[in-house]
Amino acid sequence: MTQHLPALDIEQRPPRLLVVDDQPANIQAVYQAFSADHQVLMATGGEQALKVAVAKQPDLILLDVVMPGMDGHEVCQRLKADPATRDIPVIFVTGHSDEAAETMGLSLGAVDFISKPINPTIVRARVKTHLTLKAQADLLRQYVYIDGLTGVRNRRSFDEQLASEWGRAMRDNTALSVVMVDVDFFKRYNDHYGHLAGDACLRSVASSLRQATKRPGDLVARYGGEEFACLLPGTPLEGALFFAQQMGAGIEALGLVHEDSPVGPNVTVSLGVCAIHGRAPGSADALLLAADAQLYRAKESGRNRACGGLMPSLPDRAAVSS
Ligand code: GH3
Ligand code: MG
Ligand code: MG
Repeated sequence: MTQHLPALDIEQRPPRLLVVDDQPANIQAVYQAFSADHQVLMATGGEQALKVAVAKQPDLILLDVVMPGMDGHEVCQRLKADPATRDIPVIFVTGHSDEAAETMGLSLGAVDFISKPINPTIVRARVKTHLTLKAQADLLRQYVYIDGLTGVRNRRSFDEQLASEWGRAMRDNTALSVVMVDVDFFKRYNDHYGHLAGDACLRSVASSLRQATKRPGDLVARYGGEEFACLLPGTPLEGALFFAQQMGAGIEALGLVHEDSPVGPNVTVSLGVCAIHGRAPGSADALLLAADAQLYRAKESGRNRACGGLMPSLPDRAAVSS
C-alpha cells in the first residue's frame, strides 16, 4: 500500500529570527550574519521583545542577558510561561562565559549559549541546528491534530476547536453550527470492494468535504471510522442546512460507484445539522449529540439526505429536513 502523507499547513517562508539586545551594534552584527536568508526581527528591550514574540511568532530568539530594565533571564522566564511563546527556542547571547549564568539560563529553558562578540560562522551553525529541531517539533505538533488516513483534522482537533468555538459563541452571542456526516452503507462498500478501496473512498469523501468548506473558520474533521464532523462558526441553521445539502450533493457527484448501495448507484452520505443562534443553555457536547440525533433521523428517513434543527433545549422551531 502506498503511504499517504497528510497535507499539512506548513508555511513556506524563510526562518524568522528575533534578536534582542539593548546595543544596536550587536543587533547589527547578527543582522549581517542572517539577513540574506532569514527574516530578522529586532527588539532593544525586554518588554518590546515579549510583544514582538507574541505578535510575530519567530522561530528562534537570540536573547541578550544583560539589559537595562527587564533582563534576558526574566524575558526567557516570561516567554516560557506563556503558551503563545513557550515553544520558541531561546539562545542566550552573553558577554562573557560564566558557568553559573549558563546554568541559570538553561534552567530557565534556553537551548544554547553564544558568546559576544559573535563569530558569524559558529552562530549560523548553532542557529541552523535549533531551527531544524524547531521545524521538526512543529511538524510533530501538527501531526497530533491530523488524521493519518485522510489528511483532514482528527477528532482531538475537532473537540478542542468545538469547545473553543462554543465559548466564543457564548461570549459574542453568535451562531454556531455542527454538521455530522456519515457514509451510507459503508460496510457493504468494504465488503464489496475491499478495505483498501474503502480507505481510498474515505480519502475522496474527506477531500470533497474539505473543498466544500471555504470560510477560514470552518473545520472538517474525521470523527471516527466513516464519520466526519464539520464546524461552521457564525453560520445559522438555514445556512448550515444549505451547506450540508451541498456537501452531500458534492460527494454523490464524485461518482464513486457503490453497486451494493440500496440508495443509489454512487457513494452517498447522510448529514445531521444542529445549530445555536447565539447564547444557549447546554454545552458543546450537547450540540454535538444533537447533531448526531439529526444524523440518525437522516438515516432513518431514507439516507442520502440532510436533517437539521436548533439545539433542542431552545423553544422548538420545528426541525427541518430535506
Ligand atoms: P449506515 O448507512 O447505517 O451508516 O451503514 P454503514 O454500513 O455505513 O455503517 P456501519 O457502522 O454498520 O459500518 C461502518 C463501516 O465502516 C464498518 C467499518 O468496517 C468501516 N470502516 C470504519 N473505519 C474504516 C476505515 O478506516 N477504512 C475502511 N476501509 N473502512 C472503515
Ligand atoms: Mg455509515
Ligand atoms: Mg457510522
